[in-house]
Amino acid sequence: MAPGDPILGLTEKYLADPRSNKVNLGVGVYSDDQGRLPVLKAVQQVEQALVRDQSPRGYLPIDGLPAYTAATQKLLFGAGSAVLEAGRAATVQTIGGSGALRVGADMLKQVLGDKATLAISNPSWGNHHAVFRTAGFKLIDYRYYDAPTRGLDFAGMLEDLGKLEPGTVVLLHACCHNPTGVDLDATQWAQVVALLKERNLLPFVDMAYQGFDKGIDADATAVRLLADSGIENFVVANSYSKSFSLYGERVGALSFVGADRDEAARLRSKIKQTIRANYSSPAAHGAKLVAGVLGSPELRTLWEQELREMRERIHAMRAGFVDKLAALGAPDFGFINQQAGMFSYSGLSKEQVDRLREEHAIYALSSGRICVAALTTGNLDYVARAVAEVCR
Ligand code: PMP
Repeated sequence: MAPGDPILGLTEKYLADPRSNKVNLGVGVYSDDQGRLPVLKAVQQVEQALVRDQSPRGYLPIDGLPAYTAATQKLLFGAGSAVLEAGRAATVQTIGGSGALRVGADMLKQVLGDKATLAISNPSWGNHHAVFRTAGFKLIDYRYYDAPTRGLDFAGMLEDLGKLEPGTVVLLHACCHNPTGVDLDATQWAQVVALLKERNLLPFVDMAYQGFDKGIDADATAVRLLADSGIENFVVANSYSKSFSLYGERVGALSFVGADRDEAARLRSKIKQTIRANYSSPAAHGAKLVAGVLGSPELRTLWEQELREMRERIHAMRAGFVDKLAALGAPDFGFINQQAGMFSYSGLSKEQVDRLREEHAIYALSSGRICVAALTTGNLDYVARAVAEVCR
């Protein structure tokens, strides 16, 4: 038996728990204030049109639906981006953000051979390690999370990145770092990008939460700075699972940036070869939904509004949680307002997490990671009281 996935295992325990007041903060999905996974109105409209039209279900090209990859490039790099004007980016549709990471890892491993090494933030999303290790990469941690401040160890991060061998692939979370919620600001990103360039490192940006913290453009700061940096090669994996609430439709993309149009064409051919040997071509439905929304000015405006509502709800839950904990006399949780996205490294110990589950039916990861996007006005008070109690 292979070991079970710790996050999915926790959800199984939660589902089997008979207590009616149970709360699952272990998940990695956004829920609305009623605790449901939203179905975005913009997406519904495209879907209704697809059902009406009943177009044939042929295969997509190996690199995906052209309208989808073109719209994706504009979201990542910004409309009118110099990288796009120069034809430097090769973007392909993938099976979610995870598929983008895996196809990117496989392709790079083929090119880099025995030298393939990935530097990864400590900590990072567990599947990052699994994907790159399985693709044959050697992994090295770089310092990232600073436990005493529940913030960023920026000096440690720069020091560790500065010691990497040229050519090392550096995995960077564009925004809403999973699992900590701790992000770099624009000034820090500029410093990191300068260092990556100086040390000849290969940036691989994972952007699974664009629009979940500050907005579509601000959350893409890392990508935009890389595009303007003069660095010839970098990679972006992105996902629409969260930003379109389309988790099960598996919508993601992989973009390789080359020095020029010719290199981008060579990169595209390599990525297509990797995809062909993996799963031949991607699934059509989710890509049609995203392309339909992004391709219509009205639906795009509606989506941006729905995305804004999601991030504002997360901000409100963070603030409400911090305020309630302060009112209950708990230790200071103000750092939760500085952290971004769906997750927070709460600083709760494994023992406190165990007590939350056993005594209060509140489920969180043993690392102390909680999903603040699973808090609602209905459960906020209950969760804050329970957290205050286990901190006493
Ligand atoms: N990267 C990060 C940092 C993530 O948190 C996730 C989703 N949990 C992904 C990639 C993968 O996204 P998808 O579900 O689209 O495969």
